[in-house]
Amino acid sequence: MLLHSCKITRTLPCLADPEKIRVIADVSGEIHEVFPYLNATLKRCIYNHPANTLTIKKDGKLFTLHAHHITLAKIEDEKEAEDILGWLRDLINETYEKREQIEPNYSMAAELKALDIYRLLPGTSCKKCGELTCLAFAVKLVGREIEITECNPLFSEKYQEKRIVLLELLNAAGHSIPPIALENGTR
Ligand code: SF4
Repeated sequence: MLLHSCKITRTLPCLADPEKIRVIADVSGEIHEVFPYLNATLKRCIYNHPANTLTIKKDGKLFTLHAHHITLAKIEDEKEAEDILGWLRDLINETYEKREQIEPNYSMAAELKALDIYRLLPGTSCKKCGELTCLAFAVKLVGREIEITECNPLFSEKYQEKRIVLLELLNAAGHSIPPIALENGTR
């Protein structure tokens, strides 16, 4: 067993949704050894090998695993957080037990698709970034030909929720994003 227990250590307001909470739980030991095996078996995750993080997307929520802690966003209450942590503990331990039969996957950027980004952009195709459409911008962003800060409308109050989720995804995938934006959007 790789993960014996997780303990909620902090509960914060969720910036993406003021009616929900953001939960940080410390884990017993180190869990990053299982990340490349989870990356190989889960469909909706982003692995950042150099940063040692794995972000799982499930039911509109984001769970980010670090070597020593787990962050959960858009959570209803501590009961839901405990349920998710229990699910993650089982997933981590079952995957770790089967690791001999799994080819580990250390790649990261391939999981971040242009359409994943497009859904989190304003979607107005206003052309302020110099691209004809938001989809064209998303394609360039995936290819790291343009910076997220070129989309000015995204940094307005109106798109706060989308921005926070998008910045977290980009951060998990190893994209460079402005520190001030990260302060507002991630742990
Ligand atoms: S500035 Fe943002 S909203 Fe406008 S077209 Fe570019 S990506 Fe879309």
